[in-house]
Amino acid sequence: MAEAPRLFVEDELALSDPVIFDPAQTNYLTRVMRLRTGDGVRLFNGRDGEWHAQLEVDGRRARAVLRRQTRAQYVPPQLSLVFAPLKKTRTDFLIEKATELGATELAPIMTAFTQTQRVKEERLRALVIEAAEQTERLDVPDIAPVQSLSNLLAGWPEARPLFYCDERGAARTMADELVAVGPGPAGVLVGPEGGFSETERQQLRALPFVRPVTLGPRILRAETAAVAALSLWQSGVGDWHDIPYLP
Ligand code: SAH
Repeated sequence: MAEAPRLFVEDELALSDPVIFDPAQTNYLTRVMRLRTGDGVRLFNGRDGEWHAQLEVDGRRARAVLRRQTRAQYVPPQLSLVFAPLKKTRTDFLIEKATELGATELAPIMTAFTQTQRVKEERLRALVIEAAEQTERLDVPDIAPVQSLSNLLAGWPEARPLFYCDERGAARTMADELVAVGPGPAGVLVGPEGGFSETERQQLRALPFVRPVTLGPRILRAETAAVAALSLWQSGVGDWHDIPYLP
């Protein structure tokens, strides 16, 4: 039998408290997945690990009674993806892949050449939850409020490296920078399809925590650059070396 469906919930997860599903989750479980009373579900909330629970369906209401914790909470290495929103389907792709690749925060920024002016944070939240459910993460990436590049840089912790993916100008490779910087909380910054303006590039390069990196001699689309940089970081100093949380 296929593994029990896996759902993110906001509630506390503890043996004593059943989880009451909201109408959308109830619809998914009973209509889409066609689950009935007694069927198993897996639940996580980003804090209490993963639990096996049993469904109880009563008319239009559904709840789950927790049976046992199946995985302990895992706190992944802290990695922000700072990105300029792209066209809708490309942003969706970027959000999904960043969640699969273990980004712990997604920070949308407005830049000189950002094409999209509106970002629906709620939509981003729905996308990261869906991707986290299917990729077996135990946490869901945070979505930072949309802000300007300048604001983001002004609030950035000085000790935290921000790997600035720069397709022009002299930059070291990600691998070299990772050797220099080592593990610890970090960010990856990827520009919009039009790249960063000359003013922005100078602004970035003047900051001590900004680490310009190249991703090779080809110009990548922004979402490809994000996938490449996140992968290199995870492989170099992230959690690809030990897989501590899969059962
Ligand atoms: N419009 C620009 C290209 C922007 S590509 C131009 O025509 O030159 C979009 C973003 O992806 C860039 O801002 C950069 O952050 C990242 N990127 C793409 N290719 C890259 C590379 N080879 N090295 C580093 N970053 C890259």
